[in-house]
Amino acid sequence: MLVVMKQSASEEEIGRVVETIQDMGYDARPMPGKQRTAVGLIGNDGRVDSARLQGLSGVLEVIEVSQPYKQVSREWREEDTLVTLHNGTVIGGSDVVVMAGPCAVENEEQIVGIARVLRGMGATILRGGAFKPRTSPYSFQGLGEEGLILLARAREATGMAVVTEAVDPDGLDLVAEYADIIQIGARNMQNYPLLRRAGQSGKPVLLKRGMSATIKELLLAAEYLLAEGNGQVILCERGVRSFDSHTRNLLDLTAIPVVKALSHLPIIADPSHGTGIRAKVTPMARAAVAAGADGLMIEVHPDPDRALSDGAQSLFPDQFEGLMEQIRVIAQALGREFVPTLPEPAQVP
Ligand code: PEP
Ligand code: MN
Repeated sequence: MLVVMKQSASEEEIGRVVETIQDMGYDARPMPGKQRTAVGLIGNDGRVDSARLQGLSGVLEVIEVSQPYKQVSREWREEDTLVTLHNGTVIGGSDVVVMAGPCAVENEEQIVGIARVLRGMGATILRGGAFKPRTSPYSFQGLGEEGLILLARAREATGMAVVTEAVDPDGLDLVAEYADIIQIGARNMQNYPLLRRAGQSGKPVLLKRGMSATIKELLLAAEYLLAEGNGQVILCERGVRSFDSHTRNLLDLTAIPVVKALSHLPIIADPSHGTGIRAKVTPMARAAVAAGADGLMIEVHPDPDRALSDGAQSLFPDQFEGLMEQIRVIAQALGREFVPTLPEPAQVP
């Protein structure tokens, strides 16, 4: 439920609304907007007496949010959410933001080397898994904390921000110490203890759509993060299971405009996992930006044939450079910015 205040409402009147909501046993979240302030009532169990709030002075209207996901919905917040990172990258605004890197961190030379190359080509966020949720227990599972340390080194060397996955609630705090964005992978989209911990981390979260999740389930998973007080959430379409085996997954580009209409959260696309095939990544990246994605996540490896995971869908660096040139044209045609300015790294060893 949302209590929308009059433009003329005073701080005292807003304070009274907050107190009344708390008196009723719910959490209140004041949200100052460009036009007016709204106060969100969190945890409505259907027993809220809206007339009591409607009667308070300074209140314009009380809105029942019709969607099951409340704080994630556009009804709750009309303006787009902007996720701002330490290096100045903003996701959800006019920039099309690119996160790129190998599927997994393998060693220092690989991750620092590729980070320098990618940064030079316009990526501002480095991806790389240190904890890998692999389909087979015998596949490479990632370097663990050592991988996080190497990501931090690559960040120092390039000024890029780092996105990396947390796979379980206990390990999340460690990931949060190193990552600028905590990734929740497709296999964990509905791991509620993990979502709650990520919500409490205070760090931006990249939430990937589960491989058989509906858009509504994705938005409800994001609601877990916002319900814990973390509004810095980026959604990611990474393909869903389909009956057709020509590609690894079916990249559902309709999810982009659908989510944009339903939610204020930014949404990016991952055509690497979305297709599973190197040759299909660039065409689908172009399509995703054309569809309105706020950014892309692209797997790039210095030597894909020797990659320890997802080599078949990883671009060679020169292919990534070509992709970036094409994306730039599409972004500009849509009136969006591309290759946001990144300050020079503090220290380049
Ligand atoms: C990944 O980003 O490397 C990954 C495992 O992605 P997903 O969770 O989408 O499969
Ligand atoms: Mn991967």
